Amino acid sequence: MPAPIHYRIRPTHPAAHLFTVECRVATPATDGQVFRLPAWIPGSYMIREFARHIVRIRAHSDGRDVALEKIDKASWRAAALPSGQSLSVEYEVYAWDLSVRAAHLDQTHGFFNGSSVFLAVEGQTDLPCELEILPPNDPACCDWAVATTLPALDEAWSFGRYRAADYAELIDHPVEMGGFTRIAFSAGGLPHEVVLSGRHDCDGPRLAADLASICAWQIALFGAPAPFERYLFLTQLVGDGYGGLEHRSSTALLAKRDDLPWAGMDTPTEGYKRFLGLCSHEYFHSWNVKRITPAAFTPYRLHEENYTRLLWAFEGFTSYYDDLTLVRAGVIAADDYLELLAQTISNVLRGSGRLKQSVAESSFDAWIKYYRQDENAPNAVVSYYAKGALIGLALDLQLRAQSAGERSLDDVMRLLWQRHGQTGIGVPEDGIVAAVRELGGAGLARWLQKAVNGTEDLPLDKLLRPFGVRLDLQPASKTPTLGIKLAGNGGECQIAQVFDDGPAQRAGLSAGDVLIACDGLRLNAKTLEALLSRRRAGETLHLHAFRRDELMEFELELADPPATQAKLTLQPRASAKARALRAGWLGQAAG
Ligand code: ZN
Repeated sequence: MPAPIHYRIRPTHPAAHLFTVECRVATPATDGQVFRLPAWIPGSYMIREFARHIVRIRAHSDGRDVALEKIDKASWRAAALPSGQSLSVEYEVYAWDLSVRAAHLDQTHGFFNGSSVFLAVEGQTDLPCELEILPPNDPACCDWAVATTLPALDEAWSFGRYRAADYAELIDHPVEMGGFTRIAFSAGGLPHEVVLSGRHDCDGPRLAADLASICAWQIALFGAPAPFERYLFLTQLVGDGYGGLEHRSSTALLAKRDDLPWAGMDTPTEGYKRFLGLCSHEYFHSWNVKRITPAAFTPYRLHEENYTRLLWAFEGFTSYYDDLTLVRAGVIAADDYLELLAQTISNVLRGSGRLKQSVAESSFDAWIKYYRQDENAPNAVVSYYAKGALIGLALDLQLRAQSAGERSLDDVMRLLWQRHGQTGIGVPEDGIVAAVRELGGAGLARWLQKAVNGTEDLPLDKLLRPFGVRLDLQPASKTPTLGIKLAGNGGECQIAQVFDDGPAQRAGLSAGDVLIACDGLRLNAKTLEALLSRRRAGETLHLHAFRRDELMEFELELADPPATQAKLTLQPRASAKARALRAGWLGQAAG
């Protein structure tokens, strides 16, 4: 029996970046069927208006055109049809967004998220769908294959028919097509594959071995079996880029090709650790957010903002576990982990936004602030990723310390998994605090409430000491500071950001200003750096800058750089108790 909703997609014109999509509805609504494209994609909390990329659209039935009226920015209504007639809409989607969030097509490959290309059939989104993926006509694309975790009705990895139980499932399986590399491994007894699109010299066996350890560790954390039958890491390789988006049994990644391991690579590079951390992050989301989901997202309402104050747990705890998994799974050493953790601490301390916005507020306002950062973001926004990760760390340390290592954040994650992930019941806005109260007591729950809703810095040094780890804060640079971030466009000294209460802000400089001279000498990014290395805090600079093409002068008094650079060290003479706690926290090589 044919599926009630049938989609067909074809990369009709790779050079023009156009997919042609058809959606056929067996039983359209009797009063005129409405079709609607999502305005955002789950996992990326910003209204993106994907409908703006629909170029041409028409409706037809039995070969005859049907009137199609646009009724809002993302919706169309087809004229009512006599009962028994099926209805099709056919449209072109412009796909030239090289990110993990939308769709991309050229003669080298195609990639799409269903939320960018498949119109939802209003009132019928719970019905099963069939998807037919057709190959491009271009003979240059004859070696293309298809990568997706949608179940295949024909042959896996090929063009042909796939199925989805409903619209939500259809759009939660990104699809890659092209001449990609496949790297297979097994974790938790299940097949996993990495798909690499773009040129590379990846050491496949090395990557497979490391990812297998990471995935196996996370499956064991939540308890086997994993909540999917197979898993795909769909990776688009570029010269420079970074990003990931989680899905129920796959992830779409954008990564630097140089971040991949190569044959003969000795210790993991910074870039490789970053790539493994990204894979680990998205994989952890298979539980935390894809299945343990805020009640505010069940179901997703894809035409408007879905508000929750809990992204500090869904993104923050996931960020805590992404790097922690690497050390617990034995992929990196304890020292490497502490370095990564110190970077997260520094990132949080660097922005004064942390003193103004709580992570609960940052979560709620993700749609207009975290995802739409402007020049004032460091002064106004705290990252629910980074500070949320530190809240996860602080909870983990406290749970371990108060139970002599018997309990940890792992138990909180498992409780959330049993209570919400396995049941499909959304996490209410107070659900994380409730789980922490159950496992860690009322005092810890109160601490969490305050940490999440307040803007005080977390007492990490105090919490790390019982684990034989010391936190020191050092100046962020060796030279005095202007309190700005440069735009980094070539050699020009254009100010991208001006930090609160810093020398530049006190002197009246603004984002966008172009510094051109200091004490009568021409400036560029390099000479500015050299100049700062010869000056001390308290000295005054006479600066010339252009603002909107008008020359302006400024007197700026240099200051010492703030002590925002975190350094974590394992204490060599830690007590046996501290060593035991540390071994429980960091696993194996913690010493
Ligand atoms: Zn995430």
